[in-house]
Amino acid sequence: MSEASPVIAEDDAEPPGLGQTSNLATTSNEGHPHRQLLEGDFWRHIPAYRDVSTATFLDHHWQSQHAVTRVDKLAATLGDLLPLPFFRDVEAGLERAPMSLRISPYVMSLIDWRDPYSDPLRKQFMPLGSEQIADHPMVGYDSLHERSDSPVPGLVHRYPDKALFLALDLCPVYCRFCTRSYSVGGDTEGVSKYHLRAKPERWEDAFEHIRNHDEIEDIVVSGGDVHNLRADQIADIGHTLLDIPHVRRMRFATKALAVQPAKFLSDDEWVEALVGVAQRGRKLGKEVVIHTHISHPREITWITQAATRRLYGEGITIRNQCVLLRGVNDDPALLRMLVKRLSYINVQPYYVYQHDLVPGVEDLRTTLGTTLAIEKQVRGITAGFNTPTFVLDAPGGGGKRDVHSFEHYDRTTGVSVFRSPNVDENAVYIYFDPIELLPEEGRRQWADPGEHATLITNAVMAAGLDPQCLPHGWGAQTRRRLPVM
Ligand SMILES: *Cc1c(COP(=O)(O)O)cnc(C)c1O
Ligand code: SF4
Repeated sequence: MSEASPVIAEDDAEPPGLGQTSNLATTSNEGHPHRQLLEGDFWRHIPAYRDVSTATFLDHHWQSQHAVTRVDKLAATLGDLLPLPFFRDVEAGLERAPMSLRISPYVMSLIDWRDPYSDPLRKQFMPLGSEQIADHPMVGYDSLHERSDSPVPGLVHRYPDKALFLALDLCPVYCRFCTRSYSVGGDTEGVSKYHLRAKPERWEDAFEHIRNHDEIEDIVVSGGDVHNLRADQIADIGHTLLDIPHVRRMRFATKALAVQPAKFLSDDEWVEALVGVAQRGRKLGKEVVIHTHISHPREITWITQAATRRLYGEGITIRNQCVLLRGVNDDPALLRMLVKRLSYINVQPYYVYQHDLVPGVEDLRTTLGTTLAIEKQVRGITAGFNTPTFVLDAPGGGGKRDVHSFEHYDRTTGVSVFRSPNVDENAVYIYFDPIELLPEEGRRQWADPGEHATLITNAVMAAGLDPQCLPHGWGAQTRRRLPVM
């Protein structure tokens, strides 16, 4: 676990403007910090938002138009809150980052600019040159092999009865750690992206595949983020899928509840399109829900609560999935707080992911051991149905596995071995802890590239498996055979 992990403690000093707790707070909330949500016009401590009214701040157009996408806009927004070297550090970070910069005013207002270097929200969305470290040699773009599991571009059909529909490649903010950095967001200096635009012709190919496979009952509509689809596009996709008889369940994936909750309060046409799909689904006996992505308790304010109230009031189930990120939320107390706060605002914690093998964000990855230890500290705090399952999406396309279900885990080399019989009975999937967090002996072994194949072979053999079987999830891009011994 990171030494630098932020912990939300009751006695934590709050940054300026973030200190006003609920004016609705009653004595019953005392001693229950998860119920004490940030209230009021907390954005006004940011120089550029000093005169922004509540009505303006809740306007989703205003939020989108004022997103910070370049270093000069960042400097203009923050005024003299920060010294010049910080902005140079961001510039250096962006030169090598796989994701472009896009931060909403909502998130800008929640970052503690007195200490941006250790702030958990800044870390998720803004790269710094000074914190980038070398990638693990087994890290690579599209480590989950989504493209090779796509019968048509943007439809990942990996599991027998469910499919992942990537409707677009845009989001209201860009996460540094996005597993889809091969596709999502603008091109960056390092990556020219595999774009999946919001195009009805491409969508039709995906719908046709779903129509022709009557084993598919469950569709994840994701991207990118459905926040960036227009209301009529939400309705088109939703109703087209509802019209397919064998489709029984559908989830719309959006991070907006964490980063742009104003969308749910001011874009009535968009909300009504979603609600319309959900209500028609209900009449047909089909489940239509929202999956969101809230990583830190501080992302939840009175605005988020108002948004989830509206959706819950319309009968829509909301579930949360987030990634365990070093220095952001890799702390048991903080994660317990997140689980309690999500439950409090009618969001079911569903998954906590082991960080995928994504390039350019090695500083954010944790070890599998950290995840195992945190899971133990989280389970039992609340209702089982509000307790997230901790999963590892097996590199190479094995799909989600319970983190505890490894066949073998070597804490010295950081190599873990997984199987996934419902995806491929004969495959082995391998995950790698960040080298920086390994004990001295493990770091020494990875220092010699000539040893890498042996490290992997040894782990597969220790798992009692045949090292000649097809290994997935090592080597950057393609499925490779282990060298014959
Ligand atoms: C995550 C994912 C799903 C949905 O999986 P659940 O475990 O049901 O949440 C479906 N298809 C693909 C390719 C996925 O990555
Ligand atoms: S919101 Fe989701 S898809 Fe978009 S950048 Fe973040 S992790 Fe990637």
